[in-house]
Amino acid sequence: MTAQVVNGKEIVASRRERIKQETAALKESGVQPGLAVVLVGDDPASAVYVRNKIKACEDAGMLSEAYRLPATTSQAELLALIVKLNEDPRIHGILVQSPLPKGLSEEEVNETIAAEKDVDCFHPVNVGNLVLGKEGFLPCTPAGVIEILHTCGVPLAGKHAVVIGRSNIVGKPMALLLLREHATVTVCHSRTPNLADITRQADILISAVGRAGLVKREHVKPGAVVIDVGMNRGADGKLCGDVDFADAAEVAGLITPVPGCVGPMTITMLLNNTLQSARRAANR
Ligand code: NAP
Repeated sequence: MTAQVVNGKEIVASRRERIKQETAALKESGVQPGLAVVLVGDDPASAVYVRNKIKACEDAGMLSEAYRLPATTSQAELLALIVKLNEDPRIHGILVQSPLPKGLSEEEVNETIAAEKDVDCFHPVNVGNLVLGKEGFLPCTPAGVIEILHTCGVPLAGKHAVVIGRSNIVGKPMALLLLREHATVTVCHSRTPNLADITRQADILISAVGRAGLVKREHVKPGAVVIDVGMNRGADGKLCGDVDFADAAEVAGLITPVPGCVGPMTITMLLNNTLQSARRAANR
């Protein structure tokens, strides 16, 4: 293996320690950051994500409230809970875990969460601010990727970054944040022909697809930085990313592992957004 492996655990631990200290300082001034996490239905993967978020919140000294609703919950009941949380002064961030059960509208949920509590950055106002390059919440996964790149000292300005995936949650906002960093950005998706021809041009290659083994050595330029956002179950049932790690690491210069890097960094950015939101509320 030639690639250096990003020490995600160390980066996450050090960033969370800083958030913990800043949370304690804010608490001393009378405001405890609070996050409400809403889970509808009984999807086992979502239940794990929610547990991890709640635990991370508690470890940081924040108030966390979990709302576990049955899959039979109606849209009106879900929206009523969100409106209640919008009005609750103890809560600075609201997260509704996706995917929602069939029949419930994520779009309406995203539009109902108060923009100033939208720590996931899904509300149209926050998405608009992101596109315009204005101040506001940054979407957790892409912001976590940028933080990893900065911490590892990866230069971004003028570099060619290729993002595989164009979802509203990861691919599109990832491309926008890379543009903010003055990278030259190419976005690939399921209709992109000859994917490897494009990804091999990348100084920084970010995969956010959801397909194990998609990225292999032939997709990677020698020495490139490879960031794996994917979270999949491999044939052995174990958690893995989109990147064939052993193969790509033979060619890459720097590579992130799955699990243990982008996933926990995403939760760290959620804590950071909740802290920011609490600070803004304290200043209002
Ligand atoms: P998504 O909404 O399903 O989007 C997947 C994207 O990949 C789409 O844009 C799709 O293209 C593209 N794609 C599919 N097959 C492709 C192929 N063969 N070649 C090139 N592009 C292809 O998924 P998502 O929500 O963005 O999530 C992507 C992955 O990241 C998943 O594994 C998810 O679990 C993971 N994830 C991880 C975190 C974390 O915290 N680590 C957070 C969020 C998501 P089209 O648009 O053309 O369909």
